[in-house]
Amino acid sequence: MGVYTYDPLADYVIGVDVGGTKINAGLVNAQGEVLCMVSLPTMAGEARTVERIEQVIRELIAECEGSIPSLCLKGIGVGSAGQIDWARGSIRSASELIPGYAGTALKDILQERFQLPVIIDNDVNVLALTEKYLGAGQGVEHFLCLALGTGVGGALVVDGRLVHGAWGGGGELGHISVDFGGIPCLCGGIGCLEQYASGTSIARRMREKLDHMGIVEETVDTREVFARWHAGDETANELMQETVAALGSAIASLIHMCNPSLIVIGGGVAEAGDLLFEELRKEVARRTMPSMLGGVRIEPAYRGNWSGMIGAALQWWE
Ligand SMILES: [Zn+2]
Repeated sequence: MGVYTYDPLADYVIGVDVGGTKINAGLVNAQGEVLCMVSLPTMAGEARTVERIEQVIRELIAECEGSIPSLCLKGIGVGSAGQIDWARGSIRSASELIPGYAGTALKDILQERFQLPVIIDNDVNVLALTEKYLGAGQGVEHFLCLALGTGVGGALVVDGRLVHGAWGGGGELGHISVDFGGIPCLCGGIGCLEQYASGTSIARRMREKLDHMGIVEETVDTREVFARWHAGDETANELMQETVAALGSAIASLIHMCNPSLIVIGGGVAEAGDLLFEELRKEVARRTMPSMLGGVRIEPAYRGNWSGMIGAALQWWE
């Protein structure tokens, strides 16, 4: 293992972003600058995820040693897929994308292996920190984030602080129901936002619509749906109007609940671009009390690289 010193006043933290396909680790400072980094495939299902995380951190330390003569570290910050028991620093549940990961006492294991203090949170919660320090959330006390990717994740910042709830599960915004008689969700709920606004669900619903029309196009993906939407395709437009309605419905409810001044939208679906944001702003305006709507911005997420890894590190300055 590389040589480093623990120093609570150090300027650097190791930020780790644990996803279903990749694990990124980097040396990050309080300004969110990345000094060096390492990225490895998670190999979910083949290798124990906790051992892969350790390996990525070890490789990063070895990498840093070459460029930084005496490495002082404040700690390790992890942003991870799954639901995180925030107080215990353990993985409460994880999807079948990372088999065997649920139940891992990640904080205890990493603290013991690296002799450094560790903070762990959910991957979307740490993205909200990236927004707070580097993105649209700078100087904003009340905002929420929606990450529209394979699934839909969320984070709430109230009074400048992430809302964790009783054990850390707060902000599961993908599982807010936007249709009480709607599509059953994998979580056991009905009509969850995720069933309409995730990249996966957009592609699936497009294939279903085409199927109904007698057109079999197995290869239609989210990007293709967006391209057709921009080109004025009627089916793609119908589908995206439903997506916008689902998102608008969820966002209006969240505005009424939290009185935020900013909604940040990230993930692959945000790449649908200006058209999505314009339609969404109109839809939210239609569904929100005028008195609550004033001053609420809806903005795309921070576009820099490694935003999850940076947010994971920034937990140390919270
Ligand atoms: Zn659900």
